[in-house]
Amino acid sequence: MKKKRWLSALLALAMLGGVLTGCSAQGETGNIAPVVTKDPRPDVQERVSGVGFYFDTVVTLTLYGAPESILDELWTACKHYEGLLSKTIDGSDVDRINKSGGEPVTVDPETWEILRRAKEVSDISGHAFSVTIAPLTAMWDFTGGTQRMPDDETRLAALPLVNDDALVLGDNYTVTLPAGMEIDLGGIAKGYIADQAAALIQGRVTGATLNFGGNVYAVGRKPDGSAFRVGVQDPEDEQGSPLMALTVADQSVVTSGIYERYFIKDGVRYHHILDPKTGISADTDLASATIVSESSMTADAFATACIVLGSEESLKMLSDAGLNAVLIKRDGTVLTTDGFKDLYKMQMLK
Ligand code: ADP
Ligand code: MG
Repeated sequence: MKKKRWLSALLALAMLGGVLTGCSAQGETGNIAPVVTKDPRPDVQERVSGVGFYFDTVVTLTLYGAPESILDELWTACKHYEGLLSKTIDGSDVDRINKSGGEPVTVDPETWEILRRAKEVSDISGHAFSVTIAPLTAMWDFTGGTQRMPDDETRLAALPLVNDDALVLGDNYTVTLPAGMEIDLGGIAKGYIADQAAALIQGRVTGATLNFGGNVYAVGRKPDGSAFRVGVQDPEDEQGSPLMALTVADQSVVTSGIYERYFIKDGVRYHHILDPKTGISADTDLASATIVSESSMTADAFATACIVLGSEESLKMLSDAGLNAVLIKRDGTVLTTDGFKDLYKMQMLK
């Protein structure tokens, strides 16, 4: 789907408010100017919303009871973090690490902290989540329409380059990565940015939904005092068609799925979450994993790991980690972690 169509659809959504769904654009990168809309009705509390394109994803921000200038602060933050964490921006921390040739690189403390947490989730998930996945992701094209995939020899040769244990975080925010290896923060960075965006506006708005393509942060409450409802995409339906709504306050809702960026070749669905052990799209019984957490970064990394691990191992990992989630299997079965329904109102919409 083309970016413009996404944008008009999302803009309409941002203007209307209501149930939000996570989504991401396919095949295009770059930024667009934010669009600001204000509620014209005098009796309605001010609402400011905008749509941008950052991190290869449509970002939709809707703020209630906030001055318009907060939106500018949020876009500035998006730009800042993109400059730090994007793999494709020259001179970003990630770019410098990837081009370090095995030499230590001093990075921003925030980049260091994201990598620390990434390594932790890598450990906990038995390396299902691996930030050093980059040499493999580079061999695939899930968004550009070329259906590029590696031949077996190339793929197998790259597998030893994927090893989060070899990523060394030293004192004074240094990072050392062996030559030939590369990192890709695509599975965790949006979560971190959502957390920072939420912290930036905390206490300065009555409520907000910050949607970073699949990472939604619901801050505070709606003007009428009710909690926000966040839609969970139906993996079997068109983008923007939620299967259920979760009612949450001051929580992030993060979904990873196999239906967003993928192609089908010879009857096999190749999606953008790779199994670090094989270098091929994870062979999983899950269509999506949605985690609700105060930490969008944690939810983001674990949601990606869940897709790799499949439902059974995911439920165990999530319970050990004390995380709450809804898992939708490819066969349509909906699973929740123990106690999920006691914590969050979950309304099926279909
Ligand atoms: P999205 O960013 O589409 O919302 P995810 O959070 O699940 O979805 O992240 C997927 C991205 O993470 C991929 O596009 C790729 O950049 C990276 N990635 C793919 N496989 C893995 C993996 N096993 N571990 C860590 N990151 C991964
Ligand atoms: Mg993720």
